Amino acid sequence: MAMIPESVVAEIIQRNNIVEVINSFVPLKKAGNGSWKACCPFHQEKTPSFHVSETKQLYYCFGCQKGGDAVKFMRDYLNLDYVEALQQLAQRAGVVIPQNVTPEEEAAYRKRRSEAGRMYDLHEALASFYRQELLQNPNSPVAQYFATRQIPGEYAEKFRIGAAPDSWDASITFLKSRGFTEQEIIAAGVAIEKSPGGRCYDRFRNRLVFAITDENNRVIGFSARIIVKDDTAPKYVNSPETAIFHKGSILYGLAQARDSIRRNKFAIVCEGQLDTIALHRAGLDMAVAPQGLAFRSEQAELIKRYTDKLYLCFDSDSAGQQGTLRVLEFLLPMNFEIYALQIAGGKDPDEIMRTQSADVLHDALKNAIPLTRIILNGLQRSYNLATPNGKVAAAEEAVKLLGAVPNPMLREAYFEEIASALRLPINRLFEFHRKQKRFADNTFSGNQGKSDAADNAPAKYNDMRSENIRHAEASLLLLALNSADGPRQIAECLDEKLLSDSPTALILKELMNMALNGEWFSGSELLSHLPEKLAGDPEVVKMLIRDVELTAEQCRQILEDCPRELQKDYCKRKSQELLYELRETNDIVRQAAILEELKNLRKQ
Ligand SMILES: [Zn+2]
Repeated sequence: MAMIPESVVAEIIQRNNIVEVINSFVPLKKAGNGSWKACCPFHQEKTPSFHVSETKQLYYCFGCQKGGDAVKFMRDYLNLDYVEALQQLAQRAGVVIPQNVTPEEEAAYRKRRSEAGRMYDLHEALASFYRQELLQNPNSPVAQYFATRQIPGEYAEKFRIGAAPDSWDASITFLKSRGFTEQEIIAAGVAIEKSPGGRCYDRFRNRLVFAITDENNRVIGFSARIIVKDDTAPKYVNSPETAIFHKGSILYGLAQARDSIRRNKFAIVCEGQLDTIALHRAGLDMAVAPQGLAFRSEQAELIKRYTDKLYLCFDSDSAGQQGTLRVLEFLLPMNFEIYALQIAGGKDPDEIMRTQSADVLHDALKNAIPLTRIILNGLQRSYNLATPNGKVAAAEEAVKLLGAVPNPMLREAYFEEIASALRLPINRLFEFHRKQKRFADNTFSGNQGKSDAADNAPAKYNDMRSENIRHAEASLLLLALNSADGPRQIAECLDEKLLSDSPTALILKELMNMALNGEWFSGSELLSHLPEKLAGDPEVVKMLIRDVELTAEQCRQILEDCPRELQKDYCKRKSQELLYELRETNDIVRQAAILEELKNLRKQ
């Protein structure tokens, strides 16, 4: 990729006033001191909820939660990638981007970019073609089969469901008529070459076609379902991996679900296209599904950008249950809050929508079972929990799974639930967990010498912040963002180690550092200092763009109370962690050291 030096990026951002940039596409109205408004260009609305702050150089829509700096706006509004957006802004402000890349690198980059661009266009065209095929031939076998699926037209439109004609070359012929070469058609995976240089034929024939889109609703591939019962043919034929289609990192329905996930603060993960659509039809439009077989960590990372709370809706047959346990193995270390939907009679959402009603699905959501229940239900299938041996084996398995929960207090709470459900002494579970950990620490050389205590470092407690801490950090950030001298004052009276690793705290730390280094600050400049994940988070932009007037008295109070609150919480967490260790260790020397540390903490 063409690299633009950081200094040039900063110059480009500084020389483009966001108000002028956005105003050239969307007329803005002055709304107050340094702030502008418009009807949002990213969603339909009648009263303006799209705000642009000149002082902070940020925009944010309170309706659809899109927001960011000028670069982000160009990317979203004109569908550009990062470099393209910067290039346009550079041109606008007359900034020359130095050519520090070799011509070969540049050429290769351009070629890749234009190839990917062509591939998106090809998929878009083909998706429309399949869609028209379905709409215009209501008597075709595919359309007749589609009718039996009972999917209303608006959902077929929303999810871009189409028909691949019963033909060897209809797709190829269509795409060639749109100017795509045979080579491009093969590279996109929609045609198959019999032998190198030999004849080509359509990959999708006489099937119901689901367009697969990325989170920005660009078509990147297809999944085509068989329409007749035929055990010799695969039920689904999918696009192969291409330059733009990576099965592992796709969540079907995410483009249609993401606003709802943000609004509702949770997502439902189900098993396939038809279940996703069924859940959306039931009004549960926060549903997504992995593309292909299993839900994996890449997809979990994708969804983590939108929510921390997942409802799993997998088949209730034993394969589905085993799958759930495997999924927990990577979800738990990622700090997800997890529930599972259980649908009576072991039916899937698609079946429910065809034979029963949306209420069944809503009830299933309402009665979703919590994490430890999911685990116990899963283990029940492999172990006889009526026998002592079965109980112990199940408990050990549960501890292995739950041991991956990063937060020790949460982990401990889960252990307690398991112990009480199985009526086993909780200490046995802790003991087994410690043994497991020691084994793991010795196995991975990178962790050598790391004791149990190291795992209990304060940072690990951070996501169990009390409401007080959340409030203290939020107040400090409010002060930092709304008082010119705030960041410096905070930096002078607050020890960074007292802060958690919440987004609020991370931004606060960045601001404190910028203040200490005497760096000038604006909202967009701060964004470019933040980790990409955080900078791209609309919640962060929303926080930054908010204007609040603080009185001198309020400022004084925040500076006085909040650091004290954080200090208090830090001591409390540290003591809890030491007490836990004290209870678990048999080492007398360590015990004495812990008691000493506890005494010091109490003094603080
Ligand atoms: Zn909007």
